[in-house]
Amino acid sequence: MATAKKATDTNQTAKKKSAKNSQKARSNKSEAVLWGYEPYKEKKGEEYMTGAQPEHFKNILEAWKLQLMKEVDRTVHHMQDESANLPDPADRATQEEEFSLELRTRDRERKLIKKIEKTIKNLENEDYGYCDACGVEIGIRRLEARPTATLCIDCKTLDEIKEKQTRG
Ligand SMILES: [Zn+2]
Repeated sequence: MATAKKATDTNQTAKKKSAKNSQKARSNKSEAVLWGYEPYKEKKGEEYMTGAQPEHFKNILEAWKLQLMKEVDRTVHHMQDESANLPDPADRATQEEEFSLELRTRDRERKLIKKIEKTIKNLENEDYGYCDACGVEIGIRRLEARPTATLCIDCKTLDEIKEKQTRG
């Protein structure tokens, strides 16, 4: 009996995992199209963060921010539409759960919007695209995948290892 239960648990975990992965794949895909912008092609001899590069990243950041703001808006409207008085306590509980999940998502989106706004400011102050920790160029491709990145890939990796260690 105990073995059977364990098998079911593992099965559920696997299912959850694959759902999470497919979600991740989707969001990666939307990032790959760069919010409607083509990947940047450097001109011959063009130096890092010169030419049309700052403008390119500003466009991406603005488009991303707009998309997030639309999502926040949609959540608010959805909640206003759905917040009916449900007579069944079970239905109410489900709805409350749904709403709290949406509120958490919205909170995350708001924080991300703040981060994007800060990044745009940095960009305007020509303080964009260099690693906060070691000062090297973060790189166009990495920035296109993660326009709000403030660390180069090496420092980011190191950071993640440290974080794992402190969390145990
Ligand atoms: Zn670095």
